[in-house]
Amino acid sequence: MFPQTVFPETARINEDGQLLIGGCNTLELADQYGTPVYVLDEVTLRARCRSFVQEFQQRHAASQIVYAAKAYINPALAQIFDQEGLGLDVVSGGELAIARAAGFPLERVYFHGNNKGPEELAEAVAQGIGRVVVDSFHELELLDRIAADAGKVQDILLRVSPGIDPHTHSHTTTGILDSKFGIPIETGDAAAAIRQALAASNLKLQGLHFHLGSPIFELEPYRAATELVLRFAAGFREEGLELREFSPGGGFAIAYTRDQKPPEVGEYAETIVSTMISTCRDLDMALPQLIIEPGRSIIGPAGVALYRVGVIKDIPGVRKYVSVDGGMGDNIRPALYQAVYEVVAAGMADREPEEKVTIAGKYCESGDLLATDIMLPRVGAGDIIAIPAAGAYCPSMASNYNLNPRPPIILVKDGESRLIRRRESYQDMMLCDVI
Ligand SMILES: *Cc1c(COP(=O)(O)O)cnc(C)c1O
Repeated sequence: MFPQTVFPETARINEDGQLLIGGCNTLELADQYGTPVYVLDEVTLRARCRSFVQEFQQRHAASQIVYAAKAYINPALAQIFDQEGLGLDVVSGGELAIARAAGFPLERVYFHGNNKGPEELAEAVAQGIGRVVVDSFHELELLDRIAADAGKVQDILLRVSPGIDPHTHSHTTTGILDSKFGIPIETGDAAAAIRQALAASNLKLQGLHFHLGSPIFELEPYRAATELVLRFAAGFREEGLELREFSPGGGFAIAYTRDQKPPEVGEYAETIVSTMISTCRDLDMALPQLIIEPGRSIIGPAGVALYRVGVIKDIPGVRKYVSVDGGMGDNIRPALYQAVYEVVAAGMADREPEEKVTIAGKYCESGDLLATDIMLPRVGAGDIIAIPAAGAYCPSMASNYNLNPRPPIILVKDGESRLIRRRESYQDMMLCDVI
C-alpha cells in the first residue's frame, strides 16, 4: 500500500503507477532537474502554515506563528512565509541575512541560539530585529552593551529551561536540566536572569520562552511545561515582570513512517492554549501573546527527495544494498539520529513490495544508509526512488562531504515546477578556495 499519510497532500499515482507531486510527474522532474533533487509541494507547505495560524488563533487571537528557519529556509520560501503571515525564527547571522534578502519584515524575526556571536547580535540590533531570545547571563550583558552602543532598547525574551523531558532523541532534547540550551529554572538561575534583564537599561523583557526538543509526539510535556513556566513567571509580578509574550517553542511531530500517528495541530493548540488560559485565570494574570515556533511540522511533510538507483550489491543471506546518488550529504538524519523513512519506487508506486533492501548513499562512510531493511518492489539501475517527509532538516543540514554538490530545491504546484535553488556546481564548491 502506498503510504499516502507521509506524502504531501497532492501526492497521486497515475494509471502507469508513477508518483505525481503537485501535479508533476516525479520521473519527469528527476529527468529535468537531475537527481538527487528535493521537491517541495507548495499546497502542503501553505496548508501547514494556515493550519497552525487557524488552530492557534481561533483559540487565542493573539497568537503569532513563527517559522523555525533552521528546518530549511531560502529567500523564495521566506517570501511564502511572509505571505502567510508567519514570523521567522533565525539562529544565525546567515539566516538573518536570508530574511533581509527576502525583504522579510524584521519586526517579526526572533533571534535564537545558545551562543550568538557579538557581531551577529550587533547586526541584528542595528537592523532592527523584533526579538532576541536571550539564552544566558553572558548574552544578557553582551546584548545590553551592544544595544547601548547602538543607542537602542532591544526587546527580548528569556529562554528558560523548565526541566521537562519530552521523550525524544537525546540529541534533540533541549528543555531538561542537563542541556546547553536555556537558563534553568530549578537552579535559581532563571530567577536571577529575570532580575538582571529587568534591571538592564537597554533591554526590554517582553516575556519568557522555552523549547523542549523535537519531535515531540506527546501532548503532556507541553501542558506541564506551559503551566510550570507561567506559574514561575507569576512569581515575579511584584518585581516588575509583566508577561506580555509567552512562547512554548516548537517541536511538533510529523509522521515519517506509516505507523506513526503524531497529534494533529489542533490537539497541540488545544493543549497549549487551554493550559495557558486556565493557568492564567488561576493566577489572575492577563493572557500574553502566544508565540509558536514550528519548523519541522511546517516544511517536513511538504518535501520529497528523489534519488536515482545505481549499483545494487546483493550479499546472499546477509543484505541487499541498493545504492543511490545522494545520501548523508543531503540527508544526515539517519546517520545522526537513527531517523527512519519510508521509501517508494516512484515509477511503480502502486506495486506491492517484493524484497527487503537497504538504501545506501554514495558517501564514503559505512553509516551512510538512508533506510535500513525496508520493503520495496524490485528496483534496478536507473529507477527513481522517493523519500517522503524530507522537507525539514535535510537540505538545511546538507554538506559538501566528498565534494558532492548539494541538490537543487524545486517548488511544485498545479503541474508546474519552479527552481528555487539550483544544484551546486563544482565551481560553487571552490568559490571560497584560495589558489
Ligand atoms: C529548532 C527550534 C524550533 C523548531 O523545532 P521544530 O522541531 O522544527 O518544530 C523552535 N524553536 C526553537 C528555539 C528551536 O531551537
